[in-house]
Amino acid sequence: MPKYKVTVDRVQCIGCGIAPNLCPQVFVLGDDNGMNRVVDEYSKELSAEVSVGLIPEDLRDCVEKAAEACPAQAITFEETA
Ligand code: SF4
Repeated sequence: MPKYKVTVDRVQCIGCGIAPNLCPQVFVLGDDNGMNRVVDEYSKELSAEVSVGLIPEDLRDCVEKAAEACPAQAITFEETA
């Protein structure tokens, strides 16, 4: 089953909350700095600057909606091998 790598640029993120609202299965505003991050279940890397996660294919559409709606263009994703 293909997986997708999701990257949140937490420096670009303005913490507007749209991503967690549109896709709460994948995104949450972090307790650390209030910026968006990938939830623990899918998180692979987390710092104040970036959050990286691996998600299953069935969550791709939800991530895409959040990425398209993000006013800061802070969310990117790509298929992984
Ligand atoms: S939509 Fe963009 S700016 Fe808003 S919380 Fe999500 S990543 Fe941050």
